[in-house]
Amino acid sequence: MEPDVLDVVVVGSANVDLVLPVQRIPRPGETVLAAGMTRGPGGKGANQAVAAARAGARTAIVASLGVDDSGDLLRDALASSDVDLSLVASTTTPTGTAIITVDAGGENSIVVAPGANGELTLSEPAARAIGGAKIVLSQLEIPFATVHAAASASSYFILNAAPAAELTDELLANVDLLVVNETEAEAIAGSDRSALLKRVPAAVVTLGAAGAVILTRGGDEIAVAGVPVDAVDTTAAGDTFCGVLAATLAAVSATDSMTETDLRNAVRRATVAASLSVQAAGAIPSVPHGDAIDARYA
Ligand code: ATP
Repeated sequence: MEPDVLDVVVVGSANVDLVLPVQRIPRPGETVLAAGMTRGPGGKGANQAVAAARAGARTAIVASLGVDDSGDLLRDALASSDVDLSLVASTTTPTGTAIITVDAGGENSIVVAPGANGELTLSEPAARAIGGAKIVLSQLEIPFATVHAAASASSYFILNAAPAAELTDELLANVDLLVVNETEAEAIAGSDRSALLKRVPAAVVTLGAAGAVILTRGGDEIAVAGVPVDAVDTTAAGDTFCGVLAATLAAVSATDSMTETDLRNAVRRATVAASLSVQAAGAIPSVPHGDAIDARYA
């Protein structure tokens, strides 16, 4: 795929998720037995790239994978969703791994070994693809310097500031749209979410089942209601939201003339997609395809 035909470039992490169902999450020093184990592709970058591609965007991922079984699992999962892999670096460092214990009440506890993700830098071809893409989307599971470099090289940069972290003004100066949940919003702007607009020109704060709010400088706060569904597993709801938001904004002809209506429509489509993802188990397996999204999005 030529870099200049890309709608979305995701610069982010790719992990294998090991999910261990337990009666109770172990306390320090304690050992518990899991009822089983599932192993599947995940990581915020991979999940968001799959979501963007399944929503119809020509998508590439800039990521770092180990030369191991986990790396192969991710390569297969990404390629079978039509995510372009030509900008993926391979390293002898093991692929990132997340160990996720989930208790009987659905509460989880997660430890991530970043592995190969910790080595992600921008190659020349990756920087060129980022420069030519309509939308670039990143998160915070990769080195901060790489996020920063991607933001500087992009024409429209969406930062999903997850996991929660304090961010520098230098990075935020290159962010066109910030997407955060309520915890992440608080880490950046404190308890008053409208203070986000002192640091970025536009933000979307996701509110779980309640949907999302859009904040733009000079505009009113716009609420987009959640879609009422029976949620079975919210893993990757936020990632589905971000990937579909990016894919939908990439369909707007010129990002520099993007209107508030374009943003509202994209957030509505992302909300519909995320509500579909919470009705299925797992990370990438729960990410919906464009036809399923558009059957419910009118
Ligand atoms: P996660 O970490 O679980 O992936 P998150 O904390 O990043 O999610 P949330 O605000 O919890 O982000 O959810 C993202 C979006 O997913 C919401 O804006 C909403 O559209 C959808 N969503 C999440 N939970 C539900 C639910 N129970 N019912 C319907 N939609 C949901």
